[in-house]
Amino acid sequence: MIYLDYQASTALAPEARDAMLPWLGGPDSAAFGNPHSPHVLGRQAAAAVALARERVAALLPAGGTLIFTGSAVEAINLAMRGSAPLGDKRPLAVSAIEHVAVLETAQALGCPVTTIPVSRDGIAQTDCALAPGTRMIALMQVNNEIGTIQPTIDMARRARDMGALLLVDAVQAAGKMALDEADLIAISAHKIHGPKGIGALWVRDGIALEPILTGGGQEAGIRSGTLSPALCAGFGAAAQVALERRQSDAAHAAELWDLARELFADWTLNGSADARWHGNLNIRRDGLDVARLMSDCRDICFSAGSACSSGSGKVSHVLRAIGLDDKQAKSSIRLGFGRYTTPDEIGEAARKIKAAAAAQGV
Ligand code: PLP
Repeated sequence: MIYLDYQASTALAPEARDAMLPWLGGPDSAAFGNPHSPHVLGRQAAAAVALARERVAALLPAGGTLIFTGSAVEAINLAMRGSAPLGDKRPLAVSAIEHVAVLETAQALGCPVTTIPVSRDGIAQTDCALAPGTRMIALMQVNNEIGTIQPTIDMARRARDMGALLLVDAVQAAGKMALDEADLIAISAHKIHGPKGIGALWVRDGIALEPILTGGGQEAGIRSGTLSPALCAGFGAAAQVALERRQSDAAHAAELWDLARELFADWTLNGSADARWHGNLNIRRDGLDVARLMSDCRDICFSAGSACSSGSGKVSHVLRAIGLDDKQAKSSIRLGFGRYTTPDEIGEAARKIKAAAAAQGV
């Protein structure tokens, strides 16, 4: 089995697993305390959470507050819903290639929504018209389907000039590049070799959020719910490793990218070849039946689009936004690779995928 779906999720790093194990103890262990309890077991758990928070915060801009959440989807919801009073109908602006967590939350809020267009290369156009009084702009740092890096710095300037908040979904960028110039940043552990079930929202100092989950008042009163020390510890360790390996992981992804590009030289690339994270190769081949390809290549885990839309039969909104017609979008595949992928795996996967495509006569 070859795993080429790094944008959907990544394998738990051994370092993250090791950091989690002590917090998965049974009744004989001293590691099941509630991190919000004042007694000794609680304090030990709280110390593990504090260390994890420090490690995750190292991926984010200096200062600010880090709020652990159950996922990046929750972090995005907290940012978008919690940053304005209930019923606030001021306009929002979201790029056309945002994750559905952003797009559907914007719709659910019932405000006027400006869609920020993207170029054919998959880069958001930061000079587009925005509605006066826009209260929040959402622009992701790296797109999950086509890997393109977005001009968040330009958009931050624009947001500042018009008095709007900038939300950056940095799920596919965290640990891979510096994150800055945003008011709110959403990240997720399982995209950086941490555990599933935990994400975080970074909030710039001076921004007040209303909770969307009320109850125990954890996370500075903004996100109630008992934290899992195991998940926090795993997230922290994954963040620490990502930071330590940032250069080498990026160089490895770039090497695999060069190889994959060469092997798929006669396929068409979706999204910019330059402004991108190199661990994402989204390519298409006219006439390709992707469902058949996936069924013929069952020992390779890859995606037909985003993990959310693949299998749904829906045409990817990202591929549509970069100008692909339905046929082109439906003949696209996404190969995602990174830290634990070997060149041999890329070679083997390319051989099998190309043979399966050739068997279709394309
Ligand atoms: N944003 C982007 C860009 C993503 O790729 C994903 C996951 O696919 C999410 C948000 C949601 O992350 P989570 O799985 O932590 O809810």
